[in-house]
Amino acid sequence: MVPHAFHECEETGRIDNFAVAGGLKKGVFKGTRFDDSDVFKVVEGAAYTLQNNYNPKLDHYLDSLIVLFAAAQEPDGYLYTIRTINKDTTGSYDWIAGPTRYSFENGSHELYIAGHLYEAAVAHYQATGKKNLLDIATKNADHLVKTIGPKPGQMIVVPGHQEIELALVRLYRVTNKKEYLDLAHFFVDMRGRSDKRTLFLDEHKLGPSYFQDQVPVVRQKEAVGHAVRAQYLYAAVADMLTIEDDPQYSNAIRNIWNDATFKKQYVTGGVGAREDGEAFDAAYVLPNENAYAETCSAIANLIWNHKMFLYTGESKYMDVFERTLYNGFLGGMSVSGNQFFYVNPMASNGVNDFGQGTGATRQKWFGCACCPTNVTRFLPSLPGYVYATKANELFVNLFMDSESELRVNNNPVKINQKTNYPWDGTIKITLSPAKAATFPLSIRIPGWANGQAIPGDLYTYQDKQSKPIVLTINGKKTPAILENGYLKLTRLWKAGDEVTLALDMPVRKVISNENIKTNQGKIALERGPVLYCAEGKDNQGKALSITMSPEQSFTSEYQKDFLGGLTVLKSNDAKASVLIPYYAWANRGANEMVIWFNKK
Ligand SMILES: [Zn+2]
Repeated sequence: MVPHAFHECEETGRIDNFAVAGGLKKGVFKGTRFDDSDVFKVVEGAAYTLQNNYNPKLDHYLDSLIVLFAAAQEPDGYLYTIRTINKDTTGSYDWIAGPTRYSFENGSHELYIAGHLYEAAVAHYQATGKKNLLDIATKNADHLVKTIGPKPGQMIVVPGHQEIELALVRLYRVTNKKEYLDLAHFFVDMRGRSDKRTLFLDEHKLGPSYFQDQVPVVRQKEAVGHAVRAQYLYAAVADMLTIEDDPQYSNAIRNIWNDATFKKQYVTGGVGAREDGEAFDAAYVLPNENAYAETCSAIANLIWNHKMFLYTGESKYMDVFERTLYNGFLGGMSVSGNQFFYVNPMASNGVNDFGQGTGATRQKWFGCACCPTNVTRFLPSLPGYVYATKANELFVNLFMDSESELRVNNNPVKINQKTNYPWDGTIKITLSPAKAATFPLSIRIPGWANGQAIPGDLYTYQDKQSKPIVLTINGKKTPAILENGYLKLTRLWKAGDEVTLALDMPVRKVISNENIKTNQGKIALERGPVLYCAEGKDNQGKALSITMSPEQSFTSEYQKDFLGGLTVLKSNDAKASVLIPYYAWANRGANEMVIWFNKK
């Protein structure tokens, strides 16, 4: 995925734009005003892959790009190739960049690009220990701290596309420069304060709620507007709360989360149902064939929910994370890793165009390449979401066959998972602390293993019964007692201790809240965290007409050579239908697909 994305960035002129801005190459600006961000996102993803699996060739390639970024950066730290190449004029170039720096932020994406630069820089620094990119980021952030703020002579700007807020908090965490955190706060505090600002043009007449700018964030109660912008803002608020609690922001963000999760989320964990404005629609308006559910907004949902978990320690956020990860997010990329969806419908007749250049199937790239590059940065960052620590508590949030090492109370702990999850519910965790120590090992028990499809009542299992969780420690059966969604196992842990968990993984029938009109009388199918669909390819070319009876039983079968290895479901009836995980659809060309089956 990473080489593919770099190749596309090269082919489309995105990388040359830095060379031209830096005077290293003659040429004109190619593409559009926010394209710099794509390059930074791929660099961020590449940095995570170095962390996971070092590759000297890739390391050197990144260094060669960083030379271009440094050349393109203006002496005062400003970095935005379209303006540097075209100067501050409203001439022939993309006018949405605005006549002068930050004068048209809701169109220019200058701060959005800066945010992606910082995230790439932090990832690169953490992966390689090198500061060449981090220095460019801090030079840019220092320029922003000087330019934007409440002091006389400074500009009051609200970012047109949120991202800088999250990035500044992240940059603060590695540099300890408090002014970065303060600037992030300033950006969030100024949203909805048109009385305080002089600069916020809305030439497209999108309206303030598109930008979550309708009222101050502390007074917001609902998830509205452009879904990626919105969730990057909400994630930043949660992130800031982990550093300093604030009852007003806390209350607002919990209300907004309840609204988004209980009323505006697809069963895939995808959000932003409406194509017009790539936005959250009204409560319970979740069309299937015309779903928008941008891949980026699934990623934003993951980031937001993870920050909510870090803020609260509550497992429900990781339940939403897991649902989104295996379904709404993973569906955004092909099994081969070099084809993508921008728009993610919940049903397809195999012909209709989904929009945004998606056509009726996956594409290798898009003119607006936000989604492929966002997948490229998110997927390799996944190891960072598996565990968490708080004081001496060790949280296991995701189940993945893996080896890790982390610190609990400054004590290095090796932690290995052996599992075939999500195809099998058996997970063996081996803990090896450097020094034997007493601490709570808190293992998240996914909502699905406990009869709950998703927090709230938007989607429920037809049969809520679950078999008990089987827990053994060093081979000895132990009662599994849940505390806020976690099995909290406090004991003296020593090297080689083994915890085995067996979660029953039956095929579940999911029904929607009856307020979702499009899903009335319909059933979806899940097994573990994985949502299933029927695709025409496996069902004589037809999927939309398949019906399911509420009593329908299934056989599940793991097929290691099929679409990267996955478990298929076969209905146990005369006309046996074959179902595959939703994420794996459209890997064999355009064809019919359905998630919600009409009841027989
Ligand atoms: Zn996108």
